[in-house]
Amino acid sequence: MTLNAAYLVDFDGTITTVDISYKLAVFLGGEDYKNIDDVYRRKKIPIREWLKRTAQVLPHDMDLLLSKSLEWAEIRPGFGQFLKQAGEQGSPVIIASDGFGFYIEPVLKRHGFLEQVGFIYRNDTYIDLNNKLEVKTPHAHSICTVCGNCKALHVVNLKKQGRPVIYIGDGSNDRYGASWGDHVCARDQLAEYSRQYNFDYSRWSDFYDILDVGTPRLQDRSASSLCCPMGSGVKK
Ligand SMILES: [Mg+2]
Repeated sequence: MTLNAAYLVDFDGTITTVDISYKLAVFLGGEDYKNIDDVYRRKKIPIREWLKRTAQVLPHDMDLLLSKSLEWAEIRPGFGQFLKQAGEQGSPVIIASDGFGFYIEPVLKRHGFLEQVGFIYRNDTYIDLNNKLEVKTPHAHSICTVCGNCKALHVVNLKKQGRPVIYIGDGSNDRYGASWGDHVCARDQLAEYSRQYNFDYSRWSDFYDILDVGTPRLQDRSASSLCCPMGSGVKK
């Protein structure tokens, strides 16, 4: 029996209109962040390493980081309608984020959406006992070092339950999880990758566009996927 589709949704730049983690880095990371930004843009370090290095140059002040995150967080139009429709059709909405993560629940709560989200897979950022800003990546792959949060594994696990998965995202790192999706709703960099890798995808600009996406067929993507979350991770 095929169940209703599940939605796997990125947070930064997808649910919110800006990438809050990136904005924290650019506006609060100071001069020290510029070198990190440079090597990341030249694809010399993966996102997991970006998180670790950027945490070292951010102010060690969670109150400041959270207040800025809440100030900058704007929810993309149609998100409430999307959650309502997903609830009515029995489709779980799962958030998977590979940013600093600590602001996700506060942002959703402030905008009145927290209770309607099924589950949130995210990293955690906090001040450790040595007064250092630390990023924990509890959903990272055990071997692969690319992503902090293995979104592909979350997609695969939903599919194992018999649910087709609609992947909704915007960023370049979303391509790994998206490559396992039965349909991909892509914007920005993810749209470019979706075209390049020939994903089954549609472009979206806000959540109103998602309302018309039907239920895709559950498919085995193991041959065409960009990574193997059950194996050694990103394919060479
Ligand atoms: Mg994103």
